Amino acid sequence: MRRFTSSIGARSKGVAPDFMSSPSVNPAGSLIAGQNESSSGTPDIASCPICDCAAAGPAIEKQGNYALFFCPQCGLQFWSPRVLPTSEWYELMYSGRDAKLLPLEPGHKYFLSDPNAPHSGDLLDVGCGTGNFLVAAREKGFCVSGTELDRSAATFAREKLSVENIFPFSITDFAAQYPAAKFDAVTFFEVLEHQADPAAFLHSVVSCLRPGGYIALSVPNRDRWLTGPDVFDYPPNHFLRWNEAALRNVLEHFGFQILSVRQQPVDFPYAVSMINMALRSGLTKKVTGREDIFFRDVMQMDAAKAAVAIREAPTARQRLMGTLGKVKRGLCYPLAGAALPYLRLRGYEAAYLYCLARLS
Ligand SMILES: [Zn+2]
Repeated sequence: MRRFTSSIGARSKGVAPDFMSSPSVNPAGSLIAGQNESSSGTPDIASCPICDCAAAGPAIEKQGNYALFFCPQCGLQFWSPRVLPTSEWYELMYSGRDAKLLPLEPGHKYFLSDPNAPHSGDLLDVGCGTGNFLVAAREKGFCVSGTELDRSAATFAREKLSVENIFPFSITDFAAQYPAAKFDAVTFFEVLEHQADPAAFLHSVVSCLRPGGYIALSVPNRDRWLTGPDVFDYPPNHFLRWNEAALRNVLEHFGFQILSVRQQPVDFPYAVSMINMALRSGLTKKVTGREDIFFRDVMQMDAAKAAVAIREAPTARQRLMGTLGKVKRGLCYPLAGAALPYLRLRGYEAAYLYCLARLS
């Protein structure tokens, strides 16, 4: 069976989502206002968590008890209901992310090399994880602070990287605890898509900024090239789907002027993954006699059931399936190499959508 936890850590830079806050997480899960549930359990209608206007048309997509809607006003796609999972769920899904320094992600690199971005001042990174970006920003000239709810990750940043200012709060709780703390830049890479209440999140970000302050962020680009479902991009892991237009509309709504937007072009590893996904073989069913269990299904289980699914020891047949899967992926390498120039030429995009903006 696929090792789910390492995969989610790699895609999410090993940080706890900002809302994994003990004061703000309702362990039982709570519905965010503006959502209506049908008798079947899947919502029929919903209102935008930014604009509060009614979603356009029926659900775009359904997964389990969740439905995905589109806001005609700001262009955001949002799942409903947005029920926060338990803290046990996060510990399970994000386990293993708190003990090592992960490499910088494309969004980090885009910010650090962005000619429109500031190069010094006070910077707060929301969901800083083990501090990989904070160290790079400090070397660049920033005076760095971070919020991180995972105590192990925060301890790593303090003890191994000498980053002292790590606060164990969500941005909302941080803003409430330290109303006088103001920053020249607030960054949140791969965090915004997790938010159940993005308006409250962005209000808190604004309250932490000095006049003319900057924000920099990255989110999964919903306009990316996909040949099948991205199993990580489902609730309750991600509640929001962004593209450039939605990001521009929402940030301008909150008083920001957009300075830079950058979409990650398709690279070789991404092309391999997409070609591999496109060449579905039904291998799992042939070898094991049963369907694949996808991460998007596992993460909608409660923590106890998900733990059983994740920790289940692979059978001999499943191990064979894993080996055959690797061989199949290897065969995609020459195809990806041949296709990459065409994909680049046609402007195919990969996962990261980066944005720099400033309070106007
Ligand atoms: Zn909207």
